[in-house]
Amino acid sequence: MTTEHSSTTFSDLTTIGVGGPIRTFLTPHTRDGVIDAVRQADAADLPLSVIGGGSNLLVCDDPFDGIVVRDARQDIRFGTPQADGTVAVNADAGCNWDDFVAATVAHGLEGVEGLSGIPGTVGASVVQNIGAYGQEVASSVAQVEAWDRQAQSTVTLETVQLSFGYRMSALKASMYDASAKPSAKFFPTPRFVVLSVTFRLHKSEEGTVGYGQLAKALGVRLGDRMPVAAIRDAVLKVRAAKGMLEDAHRYGIPAMAGAKRADTVAAALQAQRGTTGTDGPDFNRHSCGSFFMNPVLDAAQAAALPQDAPRFPATLPSGAPGTKTSAAWLIDHAGFHKGYAVTADAPASLSTLHTLALTNRGSARAADIAALARTVRDGVEHAYGIRLVPEPVVVGLEL
Ligand SMILES: Cc1cc2nc3c(=O)[nH]c(=O)nc-3n(C[C@H](O)[C@H](O)[C@H](O)COP(=O)(O)OP(=O)(O)OC[C@H]3O[C@@H](n4cnc5c(N)ncnc54)[C@H](O)[C@@H]3O)c2cc1C
Repeated sequence: MTTEHSSTTFSDLTTIGVGGPIRTFLTPHTRDGVIDAVRQADAADLPLSVIGGGSNLLVCDDPFDGIVVRDARQDIRFGTPQADGTVAVNADAGCNWDDFVAATVAHGLEGVEGLSGIPGTVGASVVQNIGAYGQEVASSVAQVEAWDRQAQSTVTLETVQLSFGYRMSALKASMYDASAKPSAKFFPTPRFVVLSVTFRLHKSEEGTVGYGQLAKALGVRLGDRMPVAAIRDAVLKVRAAKGMLEDAHRYGIPAMAGAKRADTVAAALQAQRGTTGTDGPDFNRHSCGSFFMNPVLDAAQAAALPQDAPRFPATLPSGAPGTKTSAAWLIDHAGFHKGYAVTADAPASLSTLHTLALTNRGSARAADIAALARTVRDGVEHAYGIRLVPEPVVVGLEL
């Protein structure tokens, strides 16, 4: 069964709450329905946007004259523990990511607890190779089942074919040509539409605390072992304090109905009320998360960084060793502090809790977010000679 919705806009479907009207919005409830919807768009040569939670998308205000597809399937299938302590877990692409993490923690499985609270879906988690608090989804993925829009067939992609990197995968790479320009054929949806992901997790009530800030919140040392449920709770609290969770009120509108389980929406709303002290929207959460990627610098660029700038070992796209620095640090030290807006009454600003989140304060349009992004990017480039690259998929806008 596939539901066709009327009068939906990208502002309804994205966490940052901007974007124009959509010609056709479909939510297929079966695997065949997802494939049929994608084939229908491709056969008619229509623009296609396969969307998950809309948490990594900045879409322009113009009408989208094509088909938007959101996989409505939410099932998770747990395998039996193997002799080596691993458990295979397969989840539908449409499954809400945090619902998935909560289910694995409830089953006493280690592997994705550090990724608690990241908005979006299981399908998109492998496109972006989501990461946080010392974990990356790449470390737990065994296989991805996808519809190959080029070959017109389903494929099973092994980890070696997925070429995971920092916020990158072969799936995401298929949307861009060699010069990092959006591909004429596969943008804003990858060549491979994820249908399900199989994870390999570990049967263990405990996980490793892999990030300093988290260790501090838990009152333990980096590398200590803790119950996975305690790690999840700490991650959710740290994220809430930084406004780095989605606003759970978004699931109250008809276009978002069924995109997350009703009981977990209710729990998220209650937790949000506990953090913000209100029942209203939290505009610090109306963002795409981190808007810019942490830049990876070569030796000359790293040497030119101020002494007190953060530095972490990293790998350049060429495979050579490089240095990662913090985009949030660069933004703040270039003079764009928490809450910065281009003008005093602008409807878009940096989050008041986090310099790396560009937020919609209630009435912003895509053009307002783009203007803020340009100002911050150009200011950082002027101050440090480093051009920040946006993390979200930017559709129909020149930044
Ligand atoms: C408050 C907040 C905090 C965040 N924190 C983090 C963080 O800590 N770490 C991190 O890595 N990210 C973070 N993000 C970014 C975002 O949550 C992730 O990138 C997430 O994986 C996006 O999932 P989505 O389902 O919302 O994707 P969408 O935004 O819906 O889509 C993003 C891209 O993925 C493609 N896509 C979606 N589903 C499929 C599919 N089934 N098959 C093929 N392609 C698909 C879309 O076509 C699009 O190109 C944050 C975002 C927000 C709003």
